[in-house]
Amino acid sequence: MNKSNKKVIIFGAGPSGLFCAYHLLKTGHQVELYDHQGGVGKKFLVAGHGGLNLTHSEDLDQFALKYGKDSQHFSSYLSEFSPENLRQWCHNLGVETFIGTSGRVFPKKLKSSEILFLWLKTLKEFPNFRLNLKHKLIDIDFQEKIAVVQSKDKEDKEDKKELKISADYFIYGLGGASWKKTGSTGEWTQIFIRNQIKCNAFQPMNCGFERKWSEYFKEKVDRYPLKNVKVTLAHHSILGEVMLTPYGIEGTTIYALSKQIREEINQFQKATIYLDLCPHWSEEKVLEKLSKKKVKTSLSQHLKKSLHISKECNILLKELTTDDEYKTSSSLAKRIKNLPIELNRPRPMEEAISTSGGIDWQELTPNLELKKYPNHFVMGEMIDFDAPTGGYLLQAAFSMAYRVAQNINSML
Ligand SMILES: Cc1cc2nc3c(=O)[nH]c(=O)nc-3n(C[C@H](O)[C@H](O)[C@H](O)COP(=O)(O)OP(=O)(O)OC[C@H]3O[C@@H](n4cnc5c(N)ncnc54)[C@H](O)[C@@H]3O)c2cc1C
Repeated sequence: MNKSNKKVIIFGAGPSGLFCAYHLLKTGHQVELYDHQGGVGKKFLVAGHGGLNLTHSEDLDQFALKYGKDSQHFSSYLSEFSPENLRQWCHNLGVETFIGTSGRVFPKKLKSSEILFLWLKTLKEFPNFRLNLKHKLIDIDFQEKIAVVQSKDKEDKEDKKELKISADYFIYGLGGASWKKTGSTGEWTQIFIRNQIKCNAFQPMNCGFERKWSEYFKEKVDRYPLKNVKVTLAHHSILGEVMLTPYGIEGTTIYALSKQIREEINQFQKATIYLDLCPHWSEEKVLEKLSKKKVKTSLSQHLKKSLHISKECNILLKELTTDDEYKTSSSLAKRIKNLPIELNRPRPMEEAISTSGGIDWQELTPNLELKKYPNHFVMGEMIDFDAPTGGYLLQAAFSMAYRVAQNINSML
């Protein structure tokens, strides 16, 4: 380990904060990590509930494109700390990973809580590391490099103490604004805004959308996954799963299109997506199959047998077509290939997997340092970027944290 007499304070013990701490500790910096929660990585724990998708195995150019308008920034961060580097780091931690059929990367055996345990254990082995939980960042004097934190006494929850702390470098990995109970409250924007740092309003990303289904639909379908369907909005199309829910729809395809759907709703108060229920067959083929229905077979039985349209999917078709459309083969074939679903609003931000909004890129140097306030760095979901699910959010947090740590390390 190198020797450094520099003190670095990191606020936020999510993936970005924990990962940055690791690389700074290796260089020998004195690292103090603060979080207002009673434990670390609460959102990382939640992310593990449905299968922790750490990153994606596609090539770097394709990967970077997932960040849309910000792909150039990410191309640079990914070139320094790539998905392969992340897999190697997991391996060194004792966490084996595998590539799923969709190219997504997951841990082989361990749960996110077990990964977090190993991660924290590694950090605690460094003598130059201090973790301060239940400490909330409430103010920053950026010029003087002094932060004000409020600590909650372990014994008395009401007993709040204010401390002023100073350091050579400050790093912030304070997260977005969904799943507030994990600690990602987004309250930190107030501190940055009053110090003239532009923060864009938070908006839900990777979220479900609401529409009004009939009572019959809600009762009969409840929650149901439509697999292997194609979802189209304007010129964006995605193949995958759509989850029908009593409030509307969600699922991987909808998350991936959530930015476009949300923007359309912001502009027109509604967005219409189109489902192709049989993406592997042409409309002519669907019509041909429909025309083979025998008189004795019901239409729902025939749809199931010849087009693999389930009972729930059939209820969806009936919900979104007129009687005439449903009963006429040619118009039914059209609807099966192009079923419009009007969406009216995103689900509340609290439920979103991620949020866009936060610190505007124009405030940052390529090394993620605040242009107005040198020696203050930001990283992870607190920066205003969008990415779909698929491991792109966690990889972003890791790659940005690496860039920040490398930059500070290079200033030794
Ligand atoms: C249900 C769900 C599933 C997900 N699944 C995946 C997935 O499979 N793959 C993927 O790539 N991503 C997934 N994500 C997203 C991913 O978890 C986040 O993008 C990632 O955790 C962001 O890391 P971060 O370090 O930037 O911020 P966070 O993880 O949000 O960490 C921010 C930290 O800052 C602390 N903090 C905030 N304000 C203060 C303050 N004032 N003072 C002190 N501390 C403060 C918080 O307590 C928190 O610990 C999922 C998210 C959710 C909600």
